[in-house]
Amino acid sequence: MFRTLRGWFVASHILPLLLLVPLMGIVLVYVLETQVLLEELSNELMGQAVLIAELLSDRPEVWLDPAGAQGYVARLDPRLDVQVMLLSANGYLLASSDPADAEHVGQQPNLPGLADALSGQVAVHKTSSRSQPGEIVDVLVPVVRSDRRIVGVVRLSYRAVSVQGRFLRLRSLIGGVLIGGLALGAVMGLFLALRMERPLRRVTEAVHRLITGEQIEPLPETGPKETQALAQEVNALVERLRSLEQARRKLLANLVHELGRPLGALQSAIQALVGGADQDASLRRDLLIGMEGEIGRLRRLLADLAGLHDQVVGTLELARETIDLGEWMTDTLGPWRQAAHDKGLEWQVTVPATLPTAEIDPDRLGQALGNLFSNAVKYTPAGGAVSVEAGVEADAAWVKVRDTGPGISPEEQERIFTPLYRGRSDRRFPQGMGLGLSIARDLVAAHGGRIEVDSTPGHGSEFTLWIPLERA
Ligand code: ADP
Repeated sequence: MFRTLRGWFVASHILPLLLLVPLMGIVLVYVLETQVLLEELSNELMGQAVLIAELLSDRPEVWLDPAGAQGYVARLDPRLDVQVMLLSANGYLLASSDPADAEHVGQQPNLPGLADALSGQVAVHKTSSRSQPGEIVDVLVPVVRSDRRIVGVVRLSYRAVSVQGRFLRLRSLIGGVLIGGLALGAVMGLFLALRMERPLRRVTEAVHRLITGEQIEPLPETGPKETQALAQEVNALVERLRSLEQARRKLLANLVHELGRPLGALQSAIQALVGGADQDASLRRDLLIGMEGEIGRLRRLLADLAGLHDQVVGTLELARETIDLGEWMTDTLGPWRQAAHDKGLEWQVTVPATLPTAEIDPDRLGQALGNLFSNAVKYTPAGGAVSVEAGVEADAAWVKVRDTGPGISPEEQERIFTPLYRGRSDRRFPQGMGLGLSIARDLVAAHGGRIEVDSTPGHGSEFTLWIPLERA
């Protein structure tokens, strides 16, 4: 039973009841019997004794003649459920309804409360020891004549045997109520235990299915707060694992695709050279330039993967230097102007003659800006234009990269910074792993800056990179 959580819950609900209920029963029985039942019995006896004493106060024959007294008791006895004793004014036993007392008639019995009764007071004596066969409640009432003389004493008592029935009834009533309570407590304990167990079992099953690679539905977030929180956390974990798994698959698919293309192009070029193309000087040159381009693409792919590694492992550390932004822009723009011209794009640069200095990591920030240029060149069809503008506003420097490419829809603008996301425009321009913008955003964020996008589909895109001039 104690090896399962259900067993623990049931036991924890029932054990306290099992200990408490019998204890409460004993205390309740004791209190009811001594404080209520005995009190009731003594009041009942008192009423009867006072009545008998009244009736006997003007019956001198009872008090003068033991035979008359015995006769009276004999007539009274069958009608009462009590033991009756009559004692004379000086404390001698005159008559008793108990045949065992016959031999004590004429003697002075030693009865508790008799002295009080003989002095004119009503005496009540109770005992709770029902294991003894003796009396439980005695009431002694003096019989007072009209001239106020005490002529004798009436003693009425309940014997243990005669009230046993009443005690038994009380005990079985209390016992019944307590057993009912215990059963109800056990059922409620079981019900609560099952309610607690159900969500835990659901979580265990969900985790098991997760381990075995099955699809799982979100867990219902019901029940007590703690189980709700557990279900919420498990759902969040499942969601996270799902997106990680998706990212892994996507990354593998993109990698296979992106590595396969330049490798295939390189292999074809090498085969052509081996097959004799190296004899033709201009063909050889074209092939070698093409191979260099493919190798450059592979290098950029590797740079993207290194960026992804930084994102995942969290090793992004900047080597900041005080850099003249104007010079840095000129150096960074160089290769991209060439790439734009090679593709037949118009290249416009509007950068002020002087730009301030800033504390940046020139290589890392150059990589971020390079990714923006790379996209602008990549997604703008030949004949289009790419323009770069820079400036300073308040305490930040900005660089805008604008193109006349296909533009990005508002829904996509939210997602393009997500790692491995490749937009719809990508279908027409099948390049890249969907990592460039997410890496650029991280690199700029590490400098305390941000990247904003403004684009209308069909009317080109504008990316603005903001860098704070004061280091935070
Ligand atoms: P990729 O390596 O695929 O270019 P990025 O993270 O750099 O990945 O960009 C994510 C997506 O954003 C791209 O697949 C593309 O759909 C869209 N995108 C980025 N820059 C531009 C742009 N200048 N014009 C149009 N679409 C763009």
